[in-house]
Amino acid sequence: MPGIIVKPRSRIFHGHDWVYSSEIKKVFGDPEPGEVITLKDYKDRPLGSAIYNPLSQIVARRFSRRRQALDEDFFRRRIGLARDLRGRLDLDPALCRLVWSESDGLPGVIIDRYGPHFVLQTLTLAMDRRKDIIAKALIELFSPESIILRNDSAMRKAEGLEPETAVLHGKDPGAFLVEHGELEFHVELLTGQKTGLYLDQLGSYPEIAALAPGKRVLDCFSNHGGFGLACAKAGAASVTCVDISSEAIAAVRENARLNKLGIEAVEANAFDFLKACKENYDLIILDPPSFTRSKKALRDAMRGYKEIHLRALKLLDRDGFLSTFSCSHHVSRDLFLENINSAAVDAKRSLRLVRSHTQREDHPILLGLPETGYLKGFSFQLVPPR
Ligand code: SAH
Repeated sequence: MPGIIVKPRSRIFHGHDWVYSSEIKKVFGDPEPGEVITLKDYKDRPLGSAIYNPLSQIVARRFSRRRQALDEDFFRRRIGLARDLRGRLDLDPALCRLVWSESDGLPGVIIDRYGPHFVLQTLTLAMDRRKDIIAKALIELFSPESIILRNDSAMRKAEGLEPETAVLHGKDPGAFLVEHGELEFHVELLTGQKTGLYLDQLGSYPEIAALAPGKRVLDCFSNHGGFGLACAKAGAASVTCVDISSEAIAAVRENARLNKLGIEAVEANAFDFLKACKENYDLIILDPPSFTRSKKALRDAMRGYKEIHLRALKLLDRDGFLSTFSCSHHVSRDLFLENINSAAVDAKRSLRLVRSHTQREDHPILLGLPETGYLKGFSFQLVPPR
């Protein structure tokens, strides 16, 4: 089998599974892009099997510590293990992220389940070439009604892959309803933003809704209104959702109607909305998109966070709550907390942390591969003047 000899002191010797181009000592056997290769240390000792893409900065991603082919049996086993884990978690296994990439031993494969409908993303070249075998394994394990391919993530570019959406199995289910907690959501898998719902946030909705009874709530970057709807259901005095996308705002209105909840939905740039707003709120939720996909853009991203934190703090009434999220892996927990604190200093306000939030457990985080953890959130209360 062709492969790579990895330089000493590379991250793979510290529990990671990726090999960057700068960590290659030698490529041997002339591997093809998308092929399975073997990794070796400089003493020729095998380190396992990996997928190979010389076009990507991450040239190899290890998926097994043994010699392993990417055949149908392999995918059936790995997806079966992923299903077993979801079955043990405190969540509905029929509405979840079934496969979370490296964390489930399938680098670049993401599979979301909405009852009988499955949404597949293949974000690495090797997995993209094998999407039909992955679909076959899913059909054997779940007999799904449909498998939708939602390969429009910007991450595919780094692997030299074009965007693509398609129905791989069955037919497009169109718009349908899913139930979560006491709420119903309208989803559209082939055309909706992301893959229908933000499944990583489902666990945070009730955590924040617990703060909402009797409060005036502002949900910024609301998408389809998950937080706002949960707060309204929990008995908020009022809920305003703000999103820049007309599609998202239409979904908020549809979901509010469906759940018989009164919600104001505003199509606006949240930065402008917060700047112009004259109202006060008791609970403000900030869940922006990833302001940065790279380390380089980190400073600009931190400036963006600082601005929304500062503006939100100015709109919060006494002893109000601020719930703020970052979904960028490059923004560490400490950096994010520092940013919030610096906004609080500028706003001359003190905050106390009442709850931390993270991606739901169906997005498990590999300890050796911190890139699998990305979502962090915190709920603070303004310390009442004393
Ligand atoms: N909280 C949501 C997920 C938010 S995703 C949920 O649980 O479903 C981020 C959202 O921010 C997207 O819906 C996107 O349309 C919106 N967005 C991006 N830039 C924005 C901006 N400048 N102002 C307002 N909304 C924005």
